[in-house]
Amino acid sequence: MTIEEKIAEIQKGIPRHVKLIAVSKTRPVEDVFEAYHAGIRSFGENRVQELLQKQPQLPKDIEWHLIGHLQTNKVKYIVPFVHMIHSVDSLKLLSEINEQARKVNRVIPCLLEMRIAREETKYGLTLNEAETLLNSDLYKSLKNIQINGLMGMATFTDDAGQVRDEFSSLQRTFQLFKEKFFENGPFFKEISMGMSGDYKLAIECGSTMVRIGTSIFGERF
Ligand SMILES: *Cc1c(COP(=O)(O)O)cnc(C)c1O
Repeated sequence: MTIEEKIAEIQKGIPRHVKLIAVSKTRPVEDVFEAYHAGIRSFGENRVQELLQKQPQLPKDIEWHLIGHLQTNKVKYIVPFVHMIHSVDSLKLLSEINEQARKVNRVIPCLLEMRIAREETKYGLTLNEAETLLNSDLYKSLKNIQINGLMGMATFTDDAGQVRDEFSSLQRTFQLFKEKFFENGPFFKEISMGMSGDYKLAIECGSTMVRIGTSIFGERF
């Protein structure tokens, strides 16, 4: 199947309110163009270096999503154009995004990355860490970021029950935070969860954004 056919196939299984983000990491710009011509306007990259290399070569109406771990010293390079940062996992990072966004007079949509997988290696905040962040005076003073929701990655496993438990826990945390911290914040509405292997399950559990690479572009090199 071509990239275009794969996208059409995936779109059929995704409800209208769920955004498909095509994860183009490691893929050449030619592949991104192909997905673009199939109608995709949201792309996800996990490395700043690669994003900076591709972005100038591609159409300006693409919305670029940073989905991978972000180092504070690289924030300044992406803040002028990035559409959303999914991988905010510390107050330090959030305040650096705010600082750089202030300089270019932007408000950057961000998601808090929550640790939902049982695997030790995954990034993300625990429930306690996220609550501490949202309760802090520093966070409340930040005017150039906006927390639009939560992001999480489930354990890489064939155990669908476990993956469902992890996605459901992210959905519950989202509801809890919405009531506790964003009662008057209609912008807090996104749950970014689901990848090639588990996006259908993620949608059943309340995902609003799925990040799909392999099922669109094939196995990564
Ligand atoms: C690579 C990546 C994806 C896409 O993974 P696939 O299994 O190729 O669909 C989604 N989210 C993040 C954070 C990634 O790094």
